[in-house]
Amino acid sequence: MLCLGFESTAHTFSCGIVEKKANKGRIISDVRRIYRPPEGQGIHPREASRHHIECSSHVLAECLKEANLTIRDIDIISYAAGPGLGPCLRVAGVVARTVSSYYKIPIYPVNHAIGHVELGKMLTGAKDPLVLLVSGGHTVLAAFKQKKWRIFGETLDITLGQLLDQFGRSLGFASPCGKKIEELALESEKYIPLPYSVKGNDVSFSGLMSAAKKVSKNRQDACYSLQETAFAMIGEATERALSFTEKKELMVVGGVAANRRLSEMLRKICKRQNCKFFVSPIQYAGDCGSQIAWTGLLEASVKKGAKISETFVRQSWRLDTVEIDY
Ligand code: AMP
Ligand code: MG
Repeated sequence: MLCLGFESTAHTFSCGIVEKKANKGRIISDVRRIYRPPEGQGIHPREASRHHIECSSHVLAECLKEANLTIRDIDIISYAAGPGLGPCLRVAGVVARTVSSYYKIPIYPVNHAIGHVELGKMLTGAKDPLVLLVSGGHTVLAAFKQKKWRIFGETLDITLGQLLDQFGRSLGFASPCGKKIEELALESEKYIPLPYSVKGNDVSFSGLMSAAKKVSKNRQDACYSLQETAFAMIGEATERALSFTEKKELMVVGGVAANRRLSEMLRKICKRQNCKFFVSPIQYAGDCGSQIAWTGLLEASVKKGAKISETFVRQSWRLDTVEIDY
């Protein structure tokens, strides 16, 4: 079975085609265009949605061409119905609905966070992991129990991706800034003390961000100290969740999973906790159509497609509210 997935929750418009055979997934094509705001600025939802509208037909055509398929070969369609920025979400929703109703292809709205988790499992081979999802829109620790991904820790304010992006923008970089901060951090080993805030098993990054902006005269030292502090906080919450849930696997997904220092710290924790470490391949750590396509295929194994009247989008849609039957 072949699924064409559409993603446009925030900065990226992407189409991915995934094949499911004997319960195994294979990515056939994955094409993306990323909206880049001017330097020093964040995502402007209306500008990002305009970008997505303008590139949507090219991305779709390129995705089919890369797969050497036509739309008639596609069995089902899925799109990220939330959570995300309203104007951006609507683009994938409208495109998916249009293609689905014109070509009479069943359609599946899917949760974007579940997309990160499911593609991570498919690509890494993790079976029953504690999941650390760290991205622009999420910072959560989740484990699967009784049909739902239950949350064992999360951010109380901004996400880890937002911390890196907002701090990077204050240095004048263009969003997303995580990679640039990682590169600068490699040039320093001078730790400047910054606020470390873990509350119960949740983390809070807003005080850390304000303090980091004040010490940003030496960029390398500031980036190094910011990463060390934020990742140690995440590490503490992860280690406690591992110990509590007694999971024997940890899987890191989301755009920030691309960070090597974060993986290095988490790997040490896994060694201590006697648990296997999995991290999403860099290419598929961030937002992409393949996540949505693979989740659509999993949904299709237990459900009929949605009615067109049910194909709305939801800006807020927590992953722990999604009931999973597959
Ligand atoms: P997503 O929303 O899953 O696409 O993730 C986007 C987030 O990942 C943004 O906040 C980026 O700054 C962040 N990101 C991407 N690459 C890296 C990296 N190498 N280190 C840290 N954060 C990163
Ligand atoms: Mg994401």
